[in-house]
Amino acid sequence: MSQKQESVVLWFRRDLRLADNPSLIAAVNSGKEIYPIFIYSPEEEAFANLGGACKWWLHQSLISLDNSLKQLGSRLFIFKGNSLKTLQTIVAQTQATAIYWNRRYEPNIIERDKNIKKVFQENGLEVKTFNSHLLFEPWEVQNSSSKPFQVFTAFWKAVLTKPSPSYPLAAPALIKNPSKIIHSLEISHLELEPKIDWAKGLRETWNPGEKEAQARLAKLLAHNIANYKEARDFPSQEATSRLSPFLNFGEISPRQIWHNIKSILAIKEEQQLKIGADFFLRELIWREFAYHLLYYYPETIDQPLRKNFSSFPWNSNEQDLTAWQKGQTGFPIVDAGMRELWHIGWMHNRVRMIVASFLTKDLLIAWQEGASWFWDTLVDADLANNTFGWQWTAGCGADAAPFFRVFNPVLQGEKFDPEGNYIRRWIPELSKLPNQWIHKPWQAPLEVLKAAKVSLGTTYPKPIIDHSFARERALEAFAIIKGQ
Ligand code: FAD
Repeated sequence: MSQKQESVVLWFRRDLRLADNPSLIAAVNSGKEIYPIFIYSPEEEAFANLGGACKWWLHQSLISLDNSLKQLGSRLFIFKGNSLKTLQTIVAQTQATAIYWNRRYEPNIIERDKNIKKVFQENGLEVKTFNSHLLFEPWEVQNSSSKPFQVFTAFWKAVLTKPSPSYPLAAPALIKNPSKIIHSLEISHLELEPKIDWAKGLRETWNPGEKEAQARLAKLLAHNIANYKEARDFPSQEATSRLSPFLNFGEISPRQIWHNIKSILAIKEEQQLKIGADFFLRELIWREFAYHLLYYYPETIDQPLRKNFSSFPWNSNEQDLTAWQKGQTGFPIVDAGMRELWHIGWMHNRVRMIVASFLTKDLLIAWQEGASWFWDTLVDADLANNTFGWQWTAGCGADAAPFFRVFNPVLQGEKFDPEGNYIRRWIPELSKLPNQWIHKPWQAPLEVLKAAKVSLGTTYPKPIIDHSFARERALEAFAIIKGQ
């Protein structure tokens, strides 16, 4: 008599890769038949739904994962709807005895997953969950009194005392195909791609998927890592890894990045390389810190970590907000960043800080408005990093830049884009302005503007606010809550 073949449901989520995927490897090692599935549940997503740019990315990424699975003799089954109900239907159809997945850390997803786990365990299924998204689980790094951290340097020091993160797992050579065919949607049925095609810039810039993530890592290791510390702040140079969207969708794991860098350091003893690599690894730990904060302070997704900021007198000015979103503030470095974001769904970190400071301090618009715009437009929109980045810049988060430190957009532009190359790329109407004026066109002599074919208020906006006035106004607003 032939024995009934057991099967496992392998639930892909933010881990859209085959290499270093612990739940996949556990499923393969179990010897069971594997049903690799993806469930799109818009209403359950971390921040209402995914933003438009992330939906576009997810569509491409699912195609890439499905193709990779097919090369190993398997495939991806696609579903849409409530996760628990969908899983119950799949388990009923396949008679699977186990469900495996890699963990996520957004507050509502943690709650959902706990419930799903409970329901299936009560029904006698084996439920196994794994860490694939972080170097350390958020609760694994704690201070000496077992409390969460609020200061990065202390967090970083604690990380350095921990054993090295585990080594990445190799991709499986073969995946045991399921014997039953279950009904699957087409990826296009998820309607993730925009109905009106605004994604040209995304298509031209990105190639989502595990293969491209590895190519970007290889480029980082071969060309950028040694100069990372010096060059990372200059937005016109492609000096950072641009791995953030790949990390966001789990097309590469932080462990793969960490150990690849460590293995290069083990064979090359160049001081410059060591400095760049240390700096880069520190950035990965900023990501871990953001997840640590999200885990311990889940309310910070829409409330300030520093409670006195709850009564901050934010301004709600639709016109200013729209000018900021559209890159029409009249401050070139701010506008270039916002246009880069709109066009390619990504923005350089230095410029993210500048535009966020401008929104929250010059325009006094609440950081939540900025976070929400980033959420919709970034291909790397990540609840932990986005919340952290906004609260940090606004001055109301952990280890935050103090509120009284207001970035001067002209000085920032002159320092980090001295040749104006970044401005010329994203604001072509200013491209003929000499370097001296490119970050402050409103101060340029009329004949210079004329020669550069710039007519302020017509071809390019006049500044929507006076920075010195805005700075004073921000400090006054801050003084109101300071003692609270
Ligand atoms: P690299 O310099 O190559 O760094 C490598 C990786 O380290 C990044 O991919 C990222 O995962 C991590 N990292 C780097 N800098 C930071 C940082 N400051 N905080 C946390 N992790 C970091 N990053 C996101 O991934 N998603 C977001 O939604 C997001 N929103 C942000 C909002 C604001 C207002 C600010 C100031 C920063 C935000 N960041 C966000 C952090 C940072 O800007 C991006 O991670 C970085 O620009 C991504 O580019 P990269 O991959 O080339 O970075």
